[in-house]
Amino acid sequence: MEVRVRYAPSPTGLQHIGGVRTALFNYFFARSKGGKFILRVEDTDRERFSEESLKDLYETLEWLGIDWDEGPIKGGAYGPYVQSERSALYREYADKLIAAGKAYHCFCTSERLTELREVQKIEKKNYGYDRHCRNLSTEDVEKKKSEGFSSVIRLKVPLEGETFFDDLLLGRVTRKNRDISPDPVLLKSDGFPTYHLANVVDDHLMKITHILRAQEWIPSGAIHVLLYKAFGWEPPLYCHLPMVMGKDGQKLSKRHGSTSVIDFRKRGYLPEALINYVTMVGWSYDDSREFFTKEELEKLFSLEKINKAPGVFDYKKLEWFNGQYIRRKSEAELVDEVIPYLKKDGIVSENITEREMLIIKNMMTLMAERLHFMSDISELSRFLFHDIGEYTLKDIIPKKMDYEGTIRVLESARELVEGFESRSDEENEELFRKKSEEVKVKLGSMLMPLRVAISGSKVSPPIFGSLRLLGSEKALKRIDHVIELLKEELKKEEENGKQ
Ligand code: GLU
Ligand code: ZN
Repeated sequence: MEVRVRYAPSPTGLQHIGGVRTALFNYFFARSKGGKFILRVEDTDRERFSEESLKDLYETLEWLGIDWDEGPIKGGAYGPYVQSERSALYREYADKLIAAGKAYHCFCTSERLTELREVQKIEKKNYGYDRHCRNLSTEDVEKKKSEGFSSVIRLKVPLEGETFFDDLLLGRVTRKNRDISPDPVLLKSDGFPTYHLANVVDDHLMKITHILRAQEWIPSGAIHVLLYKAFGWEPPLYCHLPMVMGKDGQKLSKRHGSTSVIDFRKRGYLPEALINYVTMVGWSYDDSREFFTKEELEKLFSLEKINKAPGVFDYKKLEWFNGQYIRRKSEAELVDEVIPYLKKDGIVSENITEREMLIIKNMMTLMAERLHFMSDISELSRFLFHDIGEYTLKDIIPKKMDYEGTIRVLESARELVEGFESRSDEENEELFRKKSEEVKVKLGSMLMPLRVAISGSKVSPPIFGSLRLLGSEKALKRIDHVIELLKEELKKEEENGKQ
């Protein structure tokens, strides 16, 4: 039997880590089995639907490179794949259930239902809908309808017995029927189906074989199994995925940081890193291996290796993965990756000039090891393209040194910056080391002010490479400027001292 799985998000918010994990597991499972991955948009909740979320869904999947075999835009044999385009179908199936005595019309007004809830609140009982309309006769129903009363359609949950499904991960999950929400609505008065009806009808009609979804849907599982039974259909196999937690053991949420994929994307995470890491949240290949390309996961993924225990989403770990992936990229790939950021931050012009391109190409080896996120590139490389703004002189002065000492150190460093390009990095290093001994400071105390003088920051890329990229002419100008500033400060200080 061909494996057919689906990712069925509701476009009511931005795609987040949990959703994408579900999408990835479904996608990799389908690929590993040579099956089909289907995308279905569950947009029946018209109040919470947002166009922006739908756009975000498509953009996120595209960015991650998760392509679907059947779904919106692409089509397929069981379409349409957007639920709002399938309304007539759900009505038809709801009517079938009514005809079979498995569902019924409920004419309760929202006022009545509100009152019911209020009474239950006072009684401190929460049994939900009181099944008021469950036993209306066909004549009653016809009469109400002809009088123009609107109705919803509810599922007749059996009053006794129990319902279960055998979850591939969790084993048998059983619920007493009397604990199941009394008679969930299947079709709303606006003619739109609820999640339960649309989800089950579509999974059946689209021949879905396995349902991999978050554990928050377990309570719905029993309702769905009842629906399958009511229709006389065989339910698919269920596999409710391990929870995604923050490092503190609480369910991952905004409290832990942003969970929207778009934010990770804007921050400069690479899709490869996110795919790899997110797949490791709740799945592992063996005890040691952590790095997998998307292509490898398409082959190696298996349901057997999904963990029962909740998965922990650790922002720091993802950051580390991202760094690893950046360092695995070729120079040419990195150049392509950084250009959009450099443009967006105004570091280079919209139409990159030849000179800018030359710097970009030459700087990547140097920058790569300092990048945690692609977006770091702008701050790291600004000094190569633009003059430095205000210096913070206190950043320039090494620990335990004063203006005078710093001036002296910079002046000696300056001598070596002249002619810098004609020597190898090793030669330069040797010269700087000797020089620092000569002026009796640590090498670091010599390089730090130099670094700040030419890059404006303590965290520039490696200093010799930076000097080379900037060119000694510019570097000398910047050093001279700083020396001048320091001298002015020194003078001020002396004057203050005299007073
Ligand atoms: N539309 C549901 C969601 O937003 C689908 C849940 C399921 O996979 O059944 O996640
Ligand atoms: Zn009712």
